[in-house]
Amino acid sequence: MPHPRYIGRFAPSPSGPLHFGSLVAALGSFLDARARNGEWLVRMEDLDPPREMPGAADDILRTLERFGLHHDREVIYQSRRHEAYQAVLERLLDAGLAYPCACTRREIRAAGLPGGIYPGTCRNGLPTGREGRSIRLRVENSRIGFRDRLQGPVEENLAQQCGDFILRRADGLYAYQLAVVVDDAAQGITDIVRGADLLDSTARQIWLQRQLDLPMPGYLHLPVAVKPDGAKLSKQTFAPPVDPKQPTPQLARALRFLGHAVPEELEQSPPIEFLDWARKAWNPARLPAVAAIEAR
Ligand SMILES: [Zn+2]
Repeated sequence: MPHPRYIGRFAPSPSGPLHFGSLVAALGSFLDARARNGEWLVRMEDLDPPREMPGAADDILRTLERFGLHHDREVIYQSRRHEAYQAVLERLLDAGLAYPCACTRREIRAAGLPGGIYPGTCRNGLPTGREGRSIRLRVENSRIGFRDRLQGPVEENLAQQCGDFILRRADGLYAYQLAVVVDDAAQGITDIVRGADLLDSTARQIWLQRQLDLPMPGYLHLPVAVKPDGAKLSKQTFAPPVDPKQPTPQLARALRFLGHAVPEELEQSPPIEFLDWARKAWNPARLPAVAAIEAR
């Protein structure tokens, strides 16, 4: 079988316009893909309507275009993929790998396990008289390890970290962990480049890939931009949106954040020219291998 070519992706959730933190993830994943002559796909993670801002998905796509971050293929919207998630869920339920859970958040808290770990109450069947609210995936008391291209070896024991975790929530929404694994496989993603805030989701995703006999992509978790008080730059911390009228200087700022020296005169060039230079300059060995850096 020929070695699969590189297919990367950027997967924002449309809870607001693109901000500096998400531009860093977009640029890092884009350059890593283009430097290897790979494809770069965009996927909208619009699974959670109450958290979304109307118009944000289109706004993000327009901003990416303005910044010269042109994607391959059609954009996938998770809100239109429910059938695929449901099919996988049913397969896991039929195989006994997933099960319905009746527990409320309060009951799980009352069980008193550290970190709110699920105590396994419904593992061997629902308690008498109770109905399933959510669907959980069984985990094992064993270590799951992978080598992140930047963060190095990472290891987690899901039983000690979270316990059997949720695939479909009590409100009927599909969990991020399920959707991301199903979609990465459906799109043939070979390399995941994203923010280090998602590092502790990775073991759950690898476990789910294994239950579904899916290939494991490569991982590179980029440093995350934080504010001087240590809070992650995100829509939730009211990070200002990137200015679509100033694409190249902000691309330059994002690339400097990722440890690359950028000649100042390049800031005057159109984004496409800048990105062409950046694709050749891209060197993952320059990335700062820390989880969070203050954004200046
Ligand atoms: Zn339960």
